[in-house]
Amino acid sequence: MILYGPVPSRRLGQSIGINNIPPKTCSYSCIYCQLGRTDRMQIKRQEFYKPEDIYLEAEVKLEQLKAENRTADYFSFVPDGEPTLDINLGAEIDLLKPFKVRIAVITNASLLWMDDVKEDLMKADWVSVSIDAADEDVWRRIDRPHGALRHIDILNGIIEFSKKYRGTLVTETMLVEGVNDHDTCVGKIADQLSLIQPSKAYILVPTRPPAESSVKRAAKSSLSSAVRMIRRVSGIDVECITGDENEEGFFFTESVAEDILSIASVHPIREDIIDGLLKKRNADKTIISEMVKNGELCEFQYEGKRFYRKKI
Ligand code: SF4
Repeated sequence: MILYGPVPSRRLGQSIGINNIPPKTCSYSCIYCQLGRTDRMQIKRQEFYKPEDIYLEAEVKLEQLKAENRTADYFSFVPDGEPTLDINLGAEIDLLKPFKVRIAVITNASLLWMDDVKEDLMKADWVSVSIDAADEDVWRRIDRPHGALRHIDILNGIIEFSKKYRGTLVTETMLVEGVNDHDTCVGKIADQLSLIQPSKAYILVPTRPPAESSVKRAAKSSLSSAVRMIRRVSGIDVECITGDENEEGFFFTESVAEDILSIASVHPIREDIIDGLLKKRNADKTIISEMVKNGELCEFQYEGKRFYRKKI
């Protein structure tokens, strides 16, 4: 299945995820990536799935939701890799438009210097671009990009895109302790955001098991100082996502296992969140150990807490 959900999203409401990239194919290998290190590093766009297959799955999914008296707020391209590597992205958006569900793409922006990528993203209603650093060396340390990428091209590509794009453009900045959370680095990001003027700048911290175990989330004091600095320098609306949100609002299907897999397809879930979901459904925790045994879920420890994520 290429589509999953809908899953609740703080920013997008009930969102049907589109996994248009096979795991884990990306142009970056971010130190904080919750999917682990990138094993298929590439910047060449290619076809991964037929756009018609995505269309057909979307049609079936919407029919199912209709039968259950439910709706979706967004189709979200948020795969286990970088969505713009999909050369059919624009064609897929064109095919999905008649369903009248808004379309979101969450991209690391690394290919935004390419005109065809800009054209594809122009078609989406909501686009999120990552800006983890505004200088080359910090960018290389945190995002560990493909060797052929140049940071300056990406920053210029984002600025150029922001001037023409008519949908909602937001940015995401992941703050990692000791890497990009110091004032000088945040100040440069703030200058960059001033040029882009997104509708909102989201500041995130790694909250789930990262690719590198040494990665630590930025301290609360660094977060508040970053928010203040970005607001002051750029005048942009800034919001922190600390990952401590629960899964309230999740629409359950008939199957607890399916619900848990849907959330785990998007991001690892903390054990206490799973416990809460099971309790609400009067379900037994053996369901989780069976899913681990069957290879559907895998277990991780991060910051002293146990997490589960979909096995990729
Ligand atoms: S966080 Fe996103 S951009 Fe970074 S390596 Fe993972 S999938 Fe790629």
